Amino acid sequence: MTARMILGKDVSESIYGELRERIGALKAKGIVPGLAVVLVGEDPASQVYVRMKGKKCEELGMHSVTIVMPETTTQEELLAKVDELNRDPSVHGFLVQLPLPKHIDEEAIINAVDPSKDVDCFHPFNVGKMLIGEPDFLPATPAGVQQMLIRSGTETAGKHVVIVGRSNIVGKPMAAMMMQKGKGADSTVTVTNSRTPNLASITSQADILIVAMGRPRFITADMVKQGAVVIDVGTNRIPDPSAKNGSRLVGDVDFDNVKEKASAITPVPGGVGPMTICMLMANTVHAAEKRVGI
Ligand code: NAP
Repeated sequence: MTARMILGKDVSESIYGELRERIGALKAKGIVPGLAVVLVGEDPASQVYVRMKGKKCEELGMHSVTIVMPETTTQEELLAKVDELNRDPSVHGFLVQLPLPKHIDEEAIINAVDPSKDVDCFHPFNVGKMLIGEPDFLPATPAGVQQMLIRSGTETAGKHVVIVGRSNIVGKPMAAMMMQKGKGADSTVTVTNSRTPNLASITSQADILIVAMGRPRFITADMVKQGAVVIDVGTNRIPDPSAKNGSRLVGDVDFDNVKEKASAITPVPGGVGPMTICMLMANTVHAAEKRVGI
């Protein structure tokens, strides 16, 4: 059996279609949803993400602001910028791109963002609301995974979801979302980490296996149950002399072999990747709608 592909491009396109309609309805009321992104320093990967976010905003007809600050920016200067964005009425949502330079306390910056504009859903207020099942926002990457499950027709209720990884950005919120009552959830959830003994004995029990560990092709076919749905969040650059730039992207899952055992799988690239920006856009539109009471 070769697994059915769940492609982020297809799922995100259907969500963008819905967002265009919602943006149109907001514009009819004189509101243009606005997203600001603050980039501190010159991390090349962050520069790429920030450019992609700005481009997508423009494609959707949203207001986009990119603020680039030098590597030498002090914590006080960054807090002042956050305060300015908190008060800017044309900005409905914003984020400070992580990672930040080492001399800046990330937690202090995250905590300074107005929760009603926290479209990354990193503020403890929003994390708490998500955990109790009353979310204003959902964090983009796990929300993207959940949409891929829902829109690919994957049943989650009563299924055993195993999550490999417990980061604040992916693993933990993913677990919090899948254990809730409701659509795309109602699952029995197991979360594993680098201290978990005999990982394969747990992953091979998963009806739905969600992997976010940052270890290239770590999950091999013998670790996967026949017919499981496998979602690979991992994005790892590995050397590849045959590639034009000498490297290529692979996931945390040994795709070529696991796809012969799974019933559905996400590739890397082209799987979860496109969903993250899509859900960020959805959060920004939601923030704008909330502001006008829709
Ligand atoms: P992270 O903060 O480095 O967390 C990795 C997690 O994996 C940790 O909880 C770690 O356990 C666990 N882990 C590592 N080795 C393990 C092992 N051998 N067995 C079991 N668990 C193990 O990474 P992250 O931010 O969650 O990202 C994970 C991957 O997803 C990365 O490749 C990242 O690039 C990718 N990602 C992609 C997107 C996207 O848009 N597609 C978004 C976010 C992240 P400990 O806690 O015990 O260390």
